Amino acid sequence: MESFIIYVGESVGKAFSAVVSFIITLFKTLIAGIKWVALFIYDKVDQFVVPHINSFIEEWSFFRGEVRQVKDGIKESIKKNPLSLFPILRHYSKVAYKKHTYMFSNLTNTVLPIVGLVILAVTINYWGTKTFALEVVSGGQSVGYVENEAVFLDAQSRVKERFSADVAGEEAIRLDTKYTVVTVQPNELTDSATLSDNIVEKTGGESTFACGVYIDGDFICALKNETDAMQVFNNILDENAVEDENAVVGFVEDVQYVQGLYADNEETIWDSEKLTEKLKTTKSEAKYYTVQMGDTVSQIANANGLRTSELYALNPGLKEMIKIGDRILVSHEVNYIRIKVVKTEIKREEIAFKIVKENNSKLYKGTTKIKRRGSKGIDEVTYLVTYIDGARVSSEEINRITIRQPIDQLVDVGTKKAAHGPYTGHTYIRGKGSLIWPAVGCNTVSSRYGYRTLRGRRNFHGGIDLTGGYSRGKTVVAAASGTVTTAGWGGAYGYYVIINHGNGMSTLYAHMLANSICVKPGQYVSGGAAIGKVGSTGNTTGAHLHFEVRINGSRVNPAPYLGV
Ligand SMILES: [Zn+2]
Repeated sequence: MESFIIYVGESVGKAFSAVVSFIITLFKTLIAGIKWVALFIYDKVDQFVVPHINSFIEEWSFFRGEVRQVKDGIKESIKKNPLSLFPILRHYSKVAYKKHTYMFSNLTNTVLPIVGLVILAVTINYWGTKTFALEVVSGGQSVGYVENEAVFLDAQSRVKERFSADVAGEEAIRLDTKYTVVTVQPNELTDSATLSDNIVEKTGGESTFACGVYIDGDFICALKNETDAMQVFNNILDENAVEDENAVVGFVEDVQYVQGLYADNEETIWDSEKLTEKLKTTKSEAKYYTVQMGDTVSQIANANGLRTSELYALNPGLKEMIKIGDRILVSHEVNYIRIKVVKTEIKREEIAFKIVKENNSKLYKGTTKIKRRGSKGIDEVTYLVTYIDGARVSSEEINRITIRQPIDQLVDVGTKKAAHGPYTGHTYIRGKGSLIWPAVGCNTVSSRYGYRTLRGRRNFHGGIDLTGGYSRGKTVVAAASGTVTTAGWGGAYGYYVIINHGNGMSTLYAHMLANSICVKPGQYVSGGAAIGKVGSTGNTTGAHLHFEVRINGSRVNPAPYLGV
């Protein structure tokens, strides 16, 4: 193990480790760079140098044959005079060089760079497989090689947790540790779990092999064996089992079991009962509720065991009006370990039908007629729903199947132009007012608008009474175009109709014959169109049409409108 940076204690601190990781990073980058360059050169060698090598090899074997030929002669002369070797060699070298200039120049131009490359490759290979590491020395003993300081710090915090009750032991580990930068093979690196075991073991102190329980990375305690630890958590899951094959029950928190050496004392090593008790307590953590459709502040408070005032106290600024998706704080405490249930739920949802409109030239403009009633469809929707400790926290649609298609509603829209102005379709217009005379053939005004005495009592007459000859059964027509708003029985009015003409004006036709009304509310009628027949239903002494004009809902004298 080549140590080329001298021991440095932890006291040197973070600055040092920053420098070390910088150097390591620099070396790694440098090696990566060299590798890239080498690969580039290798590629070129392949393309340009290899063809030369083939001709070089041919010449080399020829040259070796020549050397063999002269070898025996040289051996002889060396035996006679050893010093003659040099002039002989010089002579043959000169001859050889002259004869094989191409080969020698190839030797320097091609072979030497290749040899250089080979050396480079071997070096890179050596450095490439090796990695920089920090040797951790604790209590004067090497406890492992770590890739960087973070691994050691992690191991150190694991050891601290395990020795939470043993302050002196923890201090010893902290003060005693030293790092050395070394190079090792990657498989020689130590992970933090092994490193922490090594530290505990080599630092001494009362320790025992046990199974540590970590919740969300925090050490809780250790149990003598892993089965016991897991059983505690399985029991909690069993208590919260759901009668649903598709439900997945687990913990919100990440639970880990770590085998290793732990401080052998009551504070660290627990039994199943103590761990179970701990898990049934609560811990401080904000708990939110996400507002769903139809929620009210008081419902949310109720569901979380709070008074409305308490919910407002938890959420300053919370108003009566809440929106879907708002997050409302409902508690500062949650169960120490929370049960998460994920399951599918199937719901049926209505699909609205479309309204398809079609023009109909036989219908008056402004009127519509439903040709076919629409009907809603049904979707079967599968949701993936998550519950935490019984509260529904989220749902996600994962599938939707239409089990009944909606049926469009078909509506005919009238396009026929309505008649406007004085009606000319019937033979007699009694007056010359802006409204059409509403009772055909009833040309006598038997009672005018205003105060009158009827059956010995003075009362107010809100309309005009039209009669003439034998009135019963004569046709009642709309005094102007408009939409029927009322058609039916009206007490003292008997059978009556009200037509809205727009611009705040409407007209009323009363005392009509039973079953004679031939219009319906909502129907558009043109001026002069028949709406019923004169009769004497309701509060009346004989057959006549009681006709009213209303402006913005108030009865007015109809006489000027009829021109009488
Ligand atoms: Zn009347």
